[in-house]
Amino acid sequence: DTPVLDTAESVDTAAITALAAVVGAEQTVPTAGGAQVRYANFDYAASAPALTDVAAAFTEALGQYASVHRGAGHLSQVTTARYEQARETVRRFVGGRADDTVVFTRNTTDALNLAAHAVPGDVVVLDIEHHANLLPWQRTGRARVVTAQPTFADTLAALDAELSRKPAALLAITAASNVTGEVLPLRTLTALAHRHGARILIDGAQLVAHRPVSLASYGIDYLVFSGHKVYAPFGAGVLIGRSDWLDDAAPYLAGGGATAHVDLDAGTDWHTGAARHEAGSPNVLGAVAIAAAADTIKGLGFELIGYHERDLLTRLDRGLAALEAVTPLQIFEDVDDRVGIAGFAVRGHTAREVAEYLSAHHGIGVRDGKFCAHPLLTRLGYPEGAVRVSFGLGTSSDDIDRLLVALTELTERVG
Ligand code: PLP
Repeated sequence: DTPVLDTAESVDTAAITALAAVVGAEQTVPTAGGAQVRYANFDYAASAPALTDVAAAFTEALGQYASVHRGAGHLSQVTTARYEQARETVRRFVGGRADDTVVFTRNTTDALNLAAHAVPGDVVVLDIEHHANLLPWQRTGRARVVTAQPTFADTLAALDAELSRKPAALLAITAASNVTGEVLPLRTLTALAHRHGARILIDGAQLVAHRPVSLASYGIDYLVFSGHKVYAPFGAGVLIGRSDWLDDAAPYLAGGGATAHVDLDAGTDWHTGAARHEAGSPNVLGAVAIAAAADTIKGLGFELIGYHERDLLTRLDRGLAALEAVTPLQIFEDVDDRVGIAGFAVRGHTAREVAEYLSAHHGIGVRDGKFCAHPLLTRLGYPEGAVRVSFGLGTSSDDIDRLLVALTELTERVG
């Protein structure tokens, strides 16, 4: 159901090794012992490092920009063309339909707040969601939260029951958990929503840099994601999807760029399309960076990316399973597919102690806490938080081994 990638026997190992270069120069950091070590970044799920191609596209656009949309000058036209081209690149990257609206937002959170502002009815969500896909709906007073069950099959039945109990306008659901990396079957969820006459919105923040997705071929109505999780910088994100609700909604921000005509007596004539929700001068460079990242990711190919990440995940999972003090976090017993994320707890240590130890003694950066998913962490039994390791293009098997050695050292200290 989900786009499970073939383990290509023909994968070029040189291409795998070369992947690290696409994320730019290695960094060294000091350790408590005074040594400088190569930084091992295991926090890609929070923000992935910018790709060298992205930095180049960003620098080029930065070196040659002027006002967007309103200027007649040559550089204004270049900037406008770059911005609109970025929109089309994003549409193609996620298989958008020709008539989908592509709105550039600040990030996934902003995109979901915009969606919440536009959806004309109830929204069904699971309790596993990142707060970004929970709080905007709750604030509208129209969120109906379903508790995920230990199996995805039972969760699907619970969603089915909730959608049968009372119609909803939308099912809003994550594509991949930011806590465990588990990938949800998008086609199944889309079919479920549509069977009940609801639309579906996919929070693709943790998916789109790792797996192919296509709005058109899956039938997904809306997709949101952030630039900084797809190897572009902070500050830009995307909402793409069906235009009718977006055109019917009041402009997300009121201001210049969203209006076709303003008359103090006759009132304001608002644009339709992306412009309606993009008042103010847009983040052109952020949009250009997302487009550059999309092109590079597509160029590398999801087969190679998927192969690399799965290989690392297998190595990591095996290593963690060998550590008796480590308990992995899991939402669904029957979901095997994961992006490069592992959430876990270490007996005898708080998550903060583990993260600080890895950083101070080994130059390894992981995330600890509740990952903006408090209801999930509480329900799984970790109200104080857990550790999250996440990785991507710049990660090597050596990095995984370093992490496992460091965790072994820490857990043996306990024993
Ligand atoms: N949704 C998911 C699944 C996430 O992992 C995140 C970020 O961690 C978000 C939404 C929010 O993204 P942003 O902080 O870029 O708005």
